[in-house]
Amino acid sequence: MPPARIVFFAATIGGIGVTARAIMTGPPPLSVSVALASGYMALLLAGVFVLRLRMFADAIIRGPRDARGVVLTFDDGPDPEHTREVLDLLDGHAAKATFFVIGHKAEKHPELVSEIVRRGHEVGVHGFSHDRFLSLRGTKHVRDDLNKAVRVLENITGKTPALFRPPIGHTNPTIARVADELDLTVVGWSVGARDGIARTKPEDVVSRVGRGLRDGAIVLLHDAAERGTHKPAGIGALPGIFEKLAAKNLVVAHLPDWLRDN
Ligand SMILES: [Zn+2]
Repeated sequence: MPPARIVFFAATIGGIGVTARAIMTGPPPLSVSVALASGYMALLLAGVFVLRLRMFADAIIRGPRDARGVVLTFDDGPDPEHTREVLDLLDGHAAKATFFVIGHKAEKHPELVSEIVRRGHEVGVHGFSHDRFLSLRGTKHVRDDLNKAVRVLENITGKTPALFRPPIGHTNPTIARVADELDLTVVGWSVGARDGIARTKPEDVVSRVGRGLRDGAIVLLHDAAERGTHKPAGIGALPGIFEKLAAKNLVVAHLPDWLRDN
């Protein structure tokens, strides 16, 4: 079990113990109550915001122990302007990647999703509406959103998607449970390119990603802006990232192969 989940369970049991004691013997001093409640809240928020803690979901954040190579993932597409450029760059290096597409964009550009699959890449779910507040929604909302995204991909590819990257990487027990119901494996990342913001420069992305490249790494890039049409810096950075990979003698691995080996 991930250490953060053990801490979460221990803190929850501790909280129940403190509450039971307060009922029986009277409440602790206000300052102690406030400190305990704030600490528990901070722990929960860390669990929601930091997917790599795996507090609520068994997310894949890096390859298996003996993994070779680096996995490339692209979020927020498909994009009629930029996705094909990414596909061409990947083809140029015989590299296979995983695209976590947004459901409503996939619905609008089914031909791009088909092309991603035809060119040998994996397609995963990234929510239908890319709801930044998914972690604040109720079960029905989360289930409807993810289910809709799954059905869109099924209709286009004829295959039920198996992988899910939560929008902006936030998870909570509801999101984890719905992903489980839909047989979706939650995929995080070990290297964030932070390439989605319009003013980010490709050379900054190359050096940021370059520092994290090692066997078993999962790199998060974007083939589309979350909103708007600007070109994510990760696309301009890709040639430089391939150079860094070659300099470190690292190959590009395919995520489904890692999951099969697990
Ligand atoms: Zn996203």
